[in-house]
Amino acid sequence: MRLVMLLVLLCLGGCAKDLTGREPTTKDSLPEPKITYLGVGGWLLKWKGEELLFAPSFSNPSFPPILVAANHKRIDEYMPKTKNVTVLLIGHSHYDHLLDVPVIMQKYTPNAIAYGPVTAGHILAAESLTSRFVDMEAKMIPVERDGHAVPVVVRSNDERWEPNGHFRFLAIQSQHAPHFAGIDLLPGDYDHEVLSTLPKTVFGWREGTTMAWLVDLLDDDLKTVIYRIHYQDSASNPPYGFPPILPDNKGVDVEIICAASTDQVELYPEALLKITKPQKLLIGHWEDFFGNDPHHPQLLRAQKGETPLFDRLKKQYPEGQVVAPYPLTDVALPPLPKQE
Ligand SMILES: [Zn+2]
Repeated sequence: MRLVMLLVLLCLGGCAKDLTGREPTTKDSLPEPKITYLGVGGWLLKWKGEELLFAPSFSNPSFPPILVAANHKRIDEYMPKTKNVTVLLIGHSHYDHLLDVPVIMQKYTPNAIAYGPVTAGHILAAESLTSRFVDMEAKMIPVERDGHAVPVVVRSNDERWEPNGHFRFLAIQSQHAPHFAGIDLLPGDYDHEVLSTLPKTVFGWREGTTMAWLVDLLDDDLKTVIYRIHYQDSASNPPYGFPPILPDNKGVDVEIICAASTDQVELYPEALLKITKPQKLLIGHWEDFFGNDPHHPQLLRAQKGETPLFDRLKKQYPEGQVVAPYPLTDVALPPLPKQE
């Protein structure tokens, strides 16, 4: 515990670039699949010349956020300059996940299709982005019905897999952890209301349905699964967000979890990790993003003074397998399996 604290302090001093105390995670020569942590829930994944973006948040208004609007200057400063993003995945519709998405889609990812819950689509409609949005709720894999876990088998030819180039992905029913003392501060949805203007207050960015994502990276035949990534942008109680049963003997290579509000749910992420058994665990949404400088991140307010999540996870994994990267840095992923 003390060692982790020391490492955290050293990191915050600027000498190292990830909270596990390993060497800086930015390396230009990392092979594909390559992933960059963009801060909050944002990650940019590169694979075979195509890119998949988990909805990033760069505007990050100061605390307490009341009136919120996309900050074009910050987005321009921090959003990687790429035109190859073909897929943008949205987990839920709170402002710290969706506020910047309209600007990013219009200005930085002109070739991207966004996928997500109905509420996100109805918010994006305010910026005439409906034709570039796919509602994934009808295809979403259920995990629970009437309080009981539902075991679902998803085979390789299941039509709930959504294909896009060298990616395919499943939306999985998940859950948003309460923010504080068991209370969800920003509930609600726009399931039956299409917006004509973007919400102006933090309360207008309603949560909607929360989805986890399972992303497969495909070979050039667009059938063979080379790599598998599971992603959550909010902590959840088990079994929310758990992948379905996949009878293809392909394990999860990389798990991406959310550090915020883990103390508000049960057994997170340990219960999930028992199912996905990833080779590498990446921790996102760990930094205090209110009015932040992504180059000098601070721990979440709720976690200041202690690091229970990192401490616990470090005990379960060999060194180097758990990484909480600094925003705007690349993370080395487990190597590709050997091809025959
Ligand atoms: Zn949220």
